[in-house]
Amino acid sequence: MKDHTIAIHAGYEKDGTNAVTPPIHQTVAFEFDDAQHGADLFNLAVPGNIYSRIMNPTCDVLEQRVAQLEGGVGALALSAGSAAIHYAILTIASMGDNIVTTPQLYGGTYTLFAHMFPDMGIEVRFAEDDSPEAIEKLIDDKTKAVFMETIGNPAGNIVDIAEIAKVAHAHGVCTIADNTVATPALLKPFEHGIDIVVHSLTKYMGGHGTSLGGIIVDSGNFPWAENAERYPGLNTPEASYHGVVYTEALGAAAYIGRARTVPLRNTGACLSPMNAFLLLQGIETMPLRMERHCENALAVAQYLRKHPNVDWVNFAALPDDKFHPLAQKYMGGNASAIMTFGVKGGFDAGVKFYDKLGIFKRLVNIGDAKSLACHPASTTHRQLSEEEFVKVGVTPEMIRLSVGIEAIEDLLEDLDQALAT
Ligand SMILES: *Cc1c(COP(=O)(O)O)cnc(C)c1O
Repeated sequence: MKDHTIAIHAGYEKDGTNAVTPPIHQTVAFEFDDAQHGADLFNLAVPGNIYSRIMNPTCDVLEQRVAQLEGGVGALALSAGSAAIHYAILTIASMGDNIVTTPQLYGGTYTLFAHMFPDMGIEVRFAEDDSPEAIEKLIDDKTKAVFMETIGNPAGNIVDIAEIAKVAHAHGVCTIADNTVATPALLKPFEHGIDIVVHSLTKYMGGHGTSLGGIIVDSGNFPWAENAERYPGLNTPEASYHGVVYTEALGAAAYIGRARTVPLRNTGACLSPMNAFLLLQGIETMPLRMERHCENALAVAQYLRKHPNVDWVNFAALPDDKFHPLAQKYMGGNASAIMTFGVKGGFDAGVKFYDKLGIFKRLVNIGDAKSLACHPASTTHRQLSEEEFVKVGVTPEMIRLSVGIEAIEDLLEDLDQALAT
């Protein structure tokens, strides 16, 4: 099946009730037929449900659907994108290990990497830039993963994921890519050598700003058993799960099995069945919405580029943007629908413009069907000094837009009246 079909049908066949929409299985536990059935379930010897912290049939539909969209062997749905990133690392790294990452990251991911992981004894090595050379320099025998965002939020940088995967694999290290901004409708990282994908389902996948959710998807491609020394957790008996050896018990799905039965089972950031249901509703139209998001975003970027009150526009779908060659390489020239631009006149002009917006909502989220705008200097980054602004790539007049799927005429009219002020 193609994406538009997978998004609507994958992972669900009618159940005993013939419900055509995946039902919300709002239950904590599942009944065993008898003691042996319970034992078999706990031994991972038969498929089935035990307790909704570790699996739930509504979440299972979502997991299968996203796994198929990405082309993976399995997925694990979680309570938020942040939990997905946390668990994706914890599945293979512990105290004394390190991970290597590209430097420009989502704010919450940056904080997790710069502060929480180091406090837990997992070192995070930030590369100087996105280049494969800068990444390779930091890899050693304690490196458990190379992490990147396929399209950076908020910087809009596009990472050359195939080249980074090559250097990581040359050292026997797996790669993890956050594909939230691109979505599998625009880019399938597994086709370019990425081993694990994570998503904030909160954004384009759900697409309506109703529900937080996250997911880890396993390509099934990384040779964990051939790199047994680097990945003991997948190749030696698991003390916290009665001695199972994941590569032996689950083969290609070893990683995602450990993610479910170790970090999720023991710390519990599971997705609620209700949110899984709402996110499934959103995913049905995700490939369709992405077409419109991209089309609207390009029209907005072209409009801004020509406007006399606009200083600069960063958007990789514009042919002269520095990331356009990578947008061509990976997404047929598309770049999703997040962009930043500068209003002429500095901080005050930025605020004036921002306050005048009507259809564009003032908030900090992305990937909603609704158009959204953020003025980092007065909100998310207001504590920073001028020098710090430069360091993190935020300028006082900078506006970030997440362009929605409304009628383009209305969006341009809204921007026009705000820029006129
Ligand atoms: C929002 C976001 C996250 C975090 O996801 P939540 O669902 O808000 O926890 C992670 N990565 C990227 C790129 C994001 O945009």
